[in-house]
Amino acid sequence: MADSTPDGVERRLPTEEARELLALTRDIARREIAPRAAEEEDAGHFPRDLFTLLSRSGLLGLPYDSEHGGGGQPYEVYLQVLEELAAARLTVGLGVSVHSLSCHALARYGTDEQRAAHLPAMLGGGLLGAYCLSEPSAGSDAAALRTRAVRDGDGGDWVIDGTKAWITHGGIADFCTVMARTGEEGPRGITAFLVPGDAPGLSAAPPERKMGMKGSPTAQLHFDGVRVPDARRLGAEGQGFAIALDALDSGRLGIAACAVGLGQAALDVALAYAVERRQFGRPIADFQGIRFLLADMATRIEAGRALYLEAARLRDEGRPFGRLAAMAKLFCSDAAMRITTDAVQVLGGYGYTADFPVERYLREAKMLQIVEGTNQIQRVVISRSLLKGGR
Ligand SMILES: Cc1cc2nc3c(=O)[nH]c(=O)nc-3n(C[C@H](O)[C@H](O)[C@H](O)COP(=O)(O)OP(=O)(O)OC[C@H]3O[C@@H](n4cnc5c(N)ncnc54)[C@H](O)[C@@H]3O)c2cc1C
Repeated sequence: MADSTPDGVERRLPTEEARELLALTRDIARREIAPRAAEEEDAGHFPRDLFTLLSRSGLLGLPYDSEHGGGGQPYEVYLQVLEELAAARLTVGLGVSVHSLSCHALARYGTDEQRAAHLPAMLGGGLLGAYCLSEPSAGSDAAALRTRAVRDGDGGDWVIDGTKAWITHGGIADFCTVMARTGEEGPRGITAFLVPGDAPGLSAAPPERKMGMKGSPTAQLHFDGVRVPDARRLGAEGQGFAIALDALDSGRLGIAACAVGLGQAALDVALAYAVERRQFGRPIADFQGIRFLLADMATRIEAGRALYLEAARLRDEGRPFGRLAAMAKLFCSDAAMRITTDAVQVLGGYGYTADFPVERYLREAKMLQIVEGTNQIQRVVISRSLLKGGR
């Protein structure tokens, strides 16, 4: 069965429950999220209440097991929900995606006791997560991270010291999934920890002053002797980098879905404007130069959507999907950049002003080409996978 978007695009929604979830998402997006987006992004206001609403509505833990408070939905359904949220406001769609990324290590690598203790609150209890991998000197080369976790005697506690950079929800997150060095240099000396947001010794720098996504705080986090019991270590010692990369495979699909949502929002504005705006005695939509821009935008959106859904299908079937996820992140974020740029062009001078949302969309799209691995790094991942064979 397929649902359809307002512009008639067929969607993959396998069950009645999934169709209801998408309808609920659209309703929340239209009534609660979109109307506040422009003003709050301008003011740099993070809409914490919307995340509480999404949590209460069961939309914050969709792809995780219902046993621990998740929605038990296939990834392809979760991603279509993300697309709708991002179309209404990228800060919200991306925030849900980052939250989900932050839950991944515990959900997949935690023990039964750890899952039972923490996951229900993280998935449906109104908590918000942060994923802490990048550092000031370790971005694309994340395995060079220097934040250290050292055992304190035989007591079982770890003590974490160091600085994480560019952390989405930095300073407002209730919990942080933190990758820290516990052993040798390189990827094998890294371990993952679940750190409470209010742990003594953990502090945040003022949020970065970004070109877009001002409502989504991005900040450095300083760890100054942060004590974490061994019961909050996720996975084995030395497994942290593999866990971080595994989470990113799934997270990149979230970025792809958000990029498609942003592109769709830009196309919707451009289409409506092209029909209304008249020059040379007729709507600019009559001019082939404008029509071709619209056609290319729609084509990129459909191609991107098909690509992320195909990667999600592989993931839902338990098959390798990392290469396709990197391709989806690369293609969809590049598409969003191109689509939002062309949307500004369709609106001419008005597109360059804050009277229409497309200039904001353009600034937001740029971020999607950088986060969770720049698009150069996606090409590194894709080409490495091609040369190794398999998927
Ligand atoms: C708004 C925002 C939110 C973010 N949120 C988070 C978060 O929540 N958690 C988190 O851990 N991180 C987060 N990040 C960090 C993000 O993942 C990094 O910015 C990204 O991985 C790039 O690292 P860098 O900025 O240090 O750039 P660098 O690694 O210094 O790269 C600089 C340039 O060199 C290129 N380059 C580097 N290596 C290669 C190579 N081998 N081949 C070709 N080109 C290369 C890059 O593509 C880039 O163009 C966020 C970043 C931003 C901007």
